[in-house]
Amino acid sequence: MRIPQPLLCFAALLLAAALATPASAASPGEDLETIAVSLRDRALASTHAHDLLRSLTTEAGPRFAGTLGDRAGVAWAERTMQELGFDEVEAEPVTVPRWVRGEAAAAIVAPYPQRLLVTALGGSIGTPAEGITADVVEVPSLVGLDALPDDAVRGRIVFLDQRMERLQSGMGYVLVVPNRLYGAAKAAAKGAVAVVIRSVGTGTHRFPHTGMMQYEEGVPRIPAAALAIPDADLLERQLAAGGPVTLHLFLSARQLAETTSANVVGTLRGRERPEEIVLLGAHLDSWDLGTGAMDDGIGCVSVLEAARLIAELPHRPRRSIRVVLFANEEFGASGAAAYADRHQAELASHVVAAESDFGLGPIWRFATGFGPGTGATADRIAALLAPLGVTHYPDPAYGGTDLAPLRAAGVPVADLTGDGTYYFDYHHTADDTLDKVDPEPLSQNAAAYAVFAWWAAESDVDFGRFVPPPDEQLFAPPPEEPEEH
Ligand SMILES: [Zn+2]
Repeated sequence: MRIPQPLLCFAALLLAAALATPASAASPGEDLETIAVSLRDRALASTHAHDLLRSLTTEAGPRFAGTLGDRAGVAWAERTMQELGFDEVEAEPVTVPRWVRGEAAAAIVAPYPQRLLVTALGGSIGTPAEGITADVVEVPSLVGLDALPDDAVRGRIVFLDQRMERLQSGMGYVLVVPNRLYGAAKAAAKGAVAVVIRSVGTGTHRFPHTGMMQYEEGVPRIPAAALAIPDADLLERQLAAGGPVTLHLFLSARQLAETTSANVVGTLRGRERPEEIVLLGAHLDSWDLGTGAMDDGIGCVSVLEAARLIAELPHRPRRSIRVVLFANEEFGASGAAAYADRHQAELASHVVAAESDFGLGPIWRFATGFGPGTGATADRIAALLAPLGVTHYPDPAYGGTDLAPLRAAGVPVADLTGDGTYYFDYHHTADDTLDKVDPEPLSQNAAAYAVFAWWAAESDVDFGRFVPPPDEQLFAPPPEEPEEH
């Protein structure tokens, strides 16, 4: 892997941090920006975040909702929060759906028989035991599918063949992921018998990328699967000859009864206004194929490490800092809904929230969704993050899937966005493992969250209440992509 430019700058930062004096003994009266800088330097000089990730991926591994691994993840989070010095730790029960991937197999039967690497999309039904064999109809996108007459689709397997663009912001994902989410329902409405998609991902390895799909009420449910990217290429080449291509697909995916998981909630109790909460979030669950080192192990350990650094200061900040490791983000965001429900009465005292759930590299962008008239606050935090190589982005923050109910209730949010250039090479695949995550950018992630959380919790700034801009399009692509590296 090429070393991106920001990482080189980052190495210089690390060196400077290592040469700097150790953390000063902070007192409540001490300038809060001085302490923010000391937190940043301590984070950069440590690889503790990576140690936590090693522990999570080794001791719990894949943490798909409702599985034994998920349960092991909850136990890991509780014990880790206790060890890191949180004042309160609680596992709050969350009801989660339970889906089993089962086995998957696919092969081109004609004109040139070859086996294809495939996996079920999350939530898909299985095929009959003998599988489904049918001719393939290829479409470039959902728009292309809409344009086809039903006759061209009926009785066939629809192949959604759209490439994803590699971008630092990850916006390529947003443009292609509707194929995965809605492809089966749209194809079934036209009489298709199954759908296969080109994996929503970048890179060229042969691991198919899973992820959630959704059926539609009143539309027949058909099996849905993702082909590894080189296998989608192969199918595309056989189709390019123009003759019929016949595909065989077998999936033994199935739905089981709902079960229980938990949001793991750890709080550093504020010394002056404990009822006011600065929330740092990430999701504890992962898909079942990899060990969830990136998605969302990176997020979990970044916010845990930020809290650990703050917990080691001689005094708690004025406000409480709460780390929430959400259950089941990947398969329906039931943890997010459960948290908002359970904490409904105190949402008004959630002063600001940020979730770490994206990127495989240093944080490069900071955006805010604070209340009106808080520009100076955003600028002050941005100035503290700037030495980490983080730029201030003008658009309103998204907040993250798990913060959506909070944001909708007016809780101000911030985005500290990781570098997504290589993230989607591994996202939702068997290749989401510890070896892909370098310690240095992980320390930078922890540094950014520590600075943000400390400043938000120690200052008496009012972040206001978030008001979504009119006609907000959360996933509208940014007007112009910053220079790629
Ligand atoms: Zn995630």
